[in-house]
Amino acid sequence: MTNSQEFTKAAPIIHTLNEAGYEAYFVGGAVRDLLLDLPIHDVDIATSAYPAEVQALFPRHFDVGLDHGTIMVWFEGETYEITTFRTESTYQDYRRPDKVTFVQNLEEDLLRRDFTINALAMNPDHKIVDYFHGQKDLADKVIRAVGNPHDRFNEDGLRMMRGVRFASQLDFQIAPETLVAIAENAGILVHIAVERIAVEMNKLWIGVNWHKGLDYFLETDLIQYVPYLADYKAVFTDLLDYTSDQVQIPNENFAWALFFWRAFERNGKEDLAAIQQQVREFTKAWKMSNKAQKDILAYLDILIYRAQAAEWTLADLYGRDPDQLVLVEGFIEAQQAAGQKSFKAIFNQSKVQTVQDLFDQLPIHSLRDLAINGQDIVQEINPRNKRAIGQMLQFLEQAVVAQDVVNDRAALLAYLDTHHDQINEI
Ligand code: ATP
Ligand code: MG
Repeated sequence: MTNSQEFTKAAPIIHTLNEAGYEAYFVGGAVRDLLLDLPIHDVDIATSAYPAEVQALFPRHFDVGLDHGTIMVWFEGETYEITTFRTESTYQDYRRPDKVTFVQNLEEDLLRRDFTINALAMNPDHKIVDYFHGQKDLADKVIRAVGNPHDRFNEDGLRMMRGVRFASQLDFQIAPETLVAIAENAGILVHIAVERIAVEMNKLWIGVNWHKGLDYFLETDLIQYVPYLADYKAVFTDLLDYTSDQVQIPNENFAWALFFWRAFERNGKEDLAAIQQQVREFTKAWKMSNKAQKDILAYLDILIYRAQAAEWTLADLYGRDPDQLVLVEGFIEAQQAAGQKSFKAIFNQSKVQTVQDLFDQLPIHSLRDLAINGQDIVQEINPRNKRAIGQMLQFLEQAVVAQDVVNDRAALLAYLDTHHDQINEI
């Protein structure tokens, strides 16, 4: 589907609202991304109709953000957010507004939006409504606050993080007055929920120009006001020096691993437990999921291993996630291909294909692949206790991965028989 088809598909919603006598437009990120010819995520609609009127016109709806005037409408297999034109008059604590006021006019609605490139509206005939020169800023690749940037950031401090995130994601410059206002108001970020900051930071990491985004994040001193990272400024600078901006980061958990790997290297590569503890403290401070923490630690482990060992061995590959391995090797390979000298100096020549081939050579990929299990051992050997079963399985697992014995039931039992003495020692 080309970009424009997403809008064609949603056009009947606008027509329905128009026929009922209401104004309605496509707004926000989707219009921006259409004009930039980027993939469209969600097509959002703004209308003069009140929520109750939207509900009545579209029986298939969910009331997801009713307090803020948003109704989610289900149409032709897609969902669309339809939001009543509104202003966000009362801001307290620099957070999201605690009260919204519905208005009858599109311009007022667009005025409350963060940046000019996000304050465009479009009708189904692709006629653009542009009160704040958003199209010019799109053409010039500029992120500029709508109206007075100080006011915008004092209303909602998250917008500053959104600004640096868009700089990375779109490879745009931040307009000088907007940038100055971010630097002057950076401290407001302490009032913003860390989960919201994390969303923006993670998008910044995976943006096409993450170096630019991080440069702004450091230059404006936003880093000083996010949880946990204030002491890591030098690590960010170091990471920028060590990587080529030509290579995009494939996912945010790998990004954080890369970051903590630089912290580890800078600290003399000594204390593995300490760096792992920092990752745990950081993910907790940023309220990340257990899965995120686990992934970051796994990527970090792979990076640290690869920076120390010249080649992967089967035993070292065993137990690791092949997708994560390939992703790390792919990043190393791309950094080296981009001519990044530090990556050549630290890591041996990387070949994604080599890890993939090696991984395929592993006789087993987990304990479950072993040709015998605990029950077999109980039946055939009658071990002393449960602990002995575990020891035997672990012994066989290592032997199979080291290719000392083939993964075959009879062979494994025979191997156990002849190596009894070694098992008692583990
Ligand atoms: P993305 O591509 O990440 O979805 P987006 O610009 O669409 O980017 P959304 O969070 O989906 O971001 O918001 C949709 C629109 O709502 C924005 O384009 C902008 O007009 C407005 N908006 C979102 N968050 C804010 C905010 N914190 N302050 C002001 N306006 C906002
Ligand atoms: Mg969006």
